Amino acid sequence: MEGFTVKAFHDFLRENKIMGSRCKDCEGVNLPPRPVCPVCGGRDLEWVEIRGKGVVEAYTVITVPLTKMSNRCPYAVGVVKMDGGPSVSGLILGVTEGDDVSVGSRVVAEFVKEGDETVLCFRQT
Ligand SMILES: [Zn+2]
Repeated sequence: MEGFTVKAFHDFLRENKIMGSRCKDCEGVNLPPRPVCPVCGGRDLEWVEIRGKGVVEAYTVITVPLTKMSNRCPYAVGVVKMDGGPSVSGLILGVTEGDDVSVGSRVVAEFVKEGDETVLCFRQT
């Protein structure tokens, strides 16, 4: 069993899985996973797979990109509230202007390969 770390989270992304940690004491879910529950301090955790669908809670449109994502620019960086789970930040693809995305939009996860990394992205449905 892997530790509840950001590294493990990225390893799961390579397998096209979004995995968070769930606290067995208070049932709080963290994404990315954390080794200690930030709500109650519990260490009795289990892995939970988060389904790749959610709703945009907040976003910023990026026109000057990080070099590694420059070929996908423009895009938005958003916070997505996952269905039945926590919120997670990720890139929202297919955005050319600020109007192309809005708070409340439904999105699905997309796993984008960047070199040997997999980046969690979202696309509007
Ligand atoms: Zn807890």
